[in-house]
Amino acid sequence: TAYVTHPRFSEHHLPEHPEHAGRIRAVWRRLGETGLAARMHALDVQPVTDEQILAVHSRGYLDVLQRIGSLGRTVRLDADTYANPTSYEVACLAAGAVCTAADAVLRGDAANSLAVVRPPGHHAMPDHGMGFCLLGNIAIAAADARRRHQVERILIVDFDVHHGNGTEAMFYDDPSVLFVSTHQYPLYPGTGALEDIGAGAGQGYTANIPIPGGHGDASYAAIFEQVVWPLADRFQPQLILASAGFDAHWADPLAGIRLSLNGYALLCSELLRMADQYCGGKIVFVMEGGYNLEALSG
Ligand code: ZN
Repeated sequence: TAYVTHPRFSEHHLPEHPEHAGRIRAVWRRLGETGLAARMHALDVQPVTDEQILAVHSRGYLDVLQRIGSLGRTVRLDADTYANPTSYEVACLAAGAVCTAADAVLRGDAANSLAVVRPPGHHAMPDHGMGFCLLGNIAIAAADARRRHQVERILIVDFDVHHGNGTEAMFYDDPSVLFVSTHQYPLYPGTGALEDIGAGAGQGYTANIPIPGGHGDASYAAIFEQVVWPLADRFQPQLILASAGFDAHWADPLAGIRLSLNGYALLCSELLRMADQYCGGKIVFVMEGGYNLEALSG
């Protein structure tokens, strides 16, 4: 397993905000204490280029992000989403880390990989930041894998408790990316209805699985068995990217899904098994949300 992270991920910070730098410090600490970090193969990270960003984001939004650094203060991109003068550089490293993690598995340097990054990415829209997210980390990596490694079918499984509306928007009409999201519904951001299945050539390549609050391990196990596995089997992915949000844990302060750590372990092992079955084990886990530090680092 390759492990990709960067010390600068703690520079994007706002005290009192749920998406603060203490989140990633808790994960780093835990991976260090358990010896997992030492057992994984650490990779160097390069920031993404404008070209990589523009594969999924608009030029106008990129201009906005690039101007923030010169303002010298923290700004709000929307009510929930902050950016300080270094946040854009940090976001480029976060997206770059996910690209590096995908490169490693596609080149065969690692069986699978884990990208421990922030700011998170799955709510970032093509033309605006949103929901604590600046750049669409996983979407940028998917577009990059397609362009540089000629991967034709990428499965993105988003098990963050919130709908991955940004990732969905970037590939909504694109049949080369099958986007599958499990999320509490209704909940922020309010999208991700069962009927939203993609458009045009991408019709049938978006699968939303809205789940009422209160469900937990057994429901997720059933959803994977009855929905996610059959979708993967039909699609035959060449690469799996997982938006791993740990905010569907029962102790998370922002949501009401009741997954336990065992439930999470089951989801991860099912996805590893899925990658073994369809794409030679090629899977990248990418950190998204998770706002209870015990659960996030567990
Ligand atoms: Zn979330």
